[in-house]
Amino acid sequence: MPVPLLDLKLQYHALKADIDAALIGVAESQISILGPEVDALERQLESYLGVKHAIGVSSGTDALLMAMMAYDIGPGDEVIMPSFSFFATAGCVSRVGATPVFVDVDHVSFNVSPDLIRKAITPRTKAIIPVHLFGQAADIDAIAAIGKEFGIPVIEDAAQAIGTQTADGRRVGSITEIGCFSFYPTKNLGAMGDGGLVTTNDDALNIKLRQIRNHGMEPRYHHKIMGGNFRLDAMQGAILRVKLPYLESWHAARRTNADLYTELFIELGVSTAPGVTTFGKQDMILLPKMVNRGTSPDNHIFNQYTIRTAHRNELRAHLQSKGIGAEIYYPVPFHRQECFASFGLHDADYPISNCLAATVLALPIFPELKPDQIREVVATIVEFERTMLASPSECADCAECGTHV
Ligand SMILES: *Cc1c(COP(=O)(O)O)cnc(C)c1O
Repeated sequence: MPVPLLDLKLQYHALKADIDAALIGVAESQISILGPEVDALERQLESYLGVKHAIGVSSGTDALLMAMMAYDIGPGDEVIMPSFSFFATAGCVSRVGATPVFVDVDHVSFNVSPDLIRKAITPRTKAIIPVHLFGQAADIDAIAAIGKEFGIPVIEDAAQAIGTQTADGRRVGSITEIGCFSFYPTKNLGAMGDGGLVTTNDDALNIKLRQIRNHGMEPRYHHKIMGGNFRLDAMQGAILRVKLPYLESWHAARRTNADLYTELFIELGVSTAPGVTTFGKQDMILLPKMVNRGTSPDNHIFNQYTIRTAHRNELRAHLQSKGIGAEIYYPVPFHRQECFASFGLHDADYPISNCLAATVLALPIFPELKPDQIREVVATIVEFERTMLASPSECADCAECGTHV
């Protein structure tokens, strides 16, 4: 039975009548950019996220870029971030002429380590960008405290984590100076095209960000500051408004799917528990763990369910041959990217990012996935891992990080 990594048509067909009506409404209004649909979406997301201001923008990438522009970050400035994330986190810093500074991440949560952030701070540090990777909250209170201590703004990259909560129930992206979200179609709340959101609790930043969104213009044709065209389309706003009421149920379905994966991998004897970080006979597959779960079940919204295996490339090829979707997020950490080669970074400073890049594999986790499909994915993986046991092949990076047998 083929199992796709993601099937967006299922979600569209479930909501087709409402989405089509919303699109026709925008067509009839001929208000195509910003306007009442985007305004209404912003107010609904302010309430959902528990944040004072939400600003609809053109993409998650642009949300991050706007945050850099709002703080006038530029040449000579440094911005600290994890070495293991989607490229946009780093690209937005380079695009304003500043220098991204990469630090390593944690084995269990895949999220950036607060201790390493602290060590990377210099007099040139102008911002910190933690990423809530794969939908799991980073240690945001610890990072926010470091930002306060040094007077450095913290910009949350919550692109994969809309709705994710901290242990005490606050939504990520509402906690520090600025939050950045993406409505890329594969995110938990996806548009039918590009879209994003910037959030802040600061009234002055809200005004500045809204100006930046529209060429720094205020009033019309008077340009006080540098901005760009970072506006959200009304069609995307209308679609997102149809989808938002379902978001919590989709999170719950993803969590149920994640629980079933975890349960089956343990039942079939290829894993002992989530959060184990050493490969061994008992743990051929390392399972993702919800850390810091606290009282809130929403600490992880499973934008991705990411396992680790020492035979990752072989396993992926095998799954592909069986029609099962699986993807590598991310095969090359920032410090190894060709575009940052001139930084002269030392590979040995990023053992965990290197190890993750060599071992991670994201499995199908979308809300409409059926239990039988999950069983099929797990059975296929388990069968494959057992054949690999006869000829163990360790990835080169595992020796490097020293946590593997
Ligand atoms: C998706 C994503 C972005 C960029 O969002 P786009 O809407 O695709 O521009 C930024 N950071 C992370 C971590 C992402 O996953």
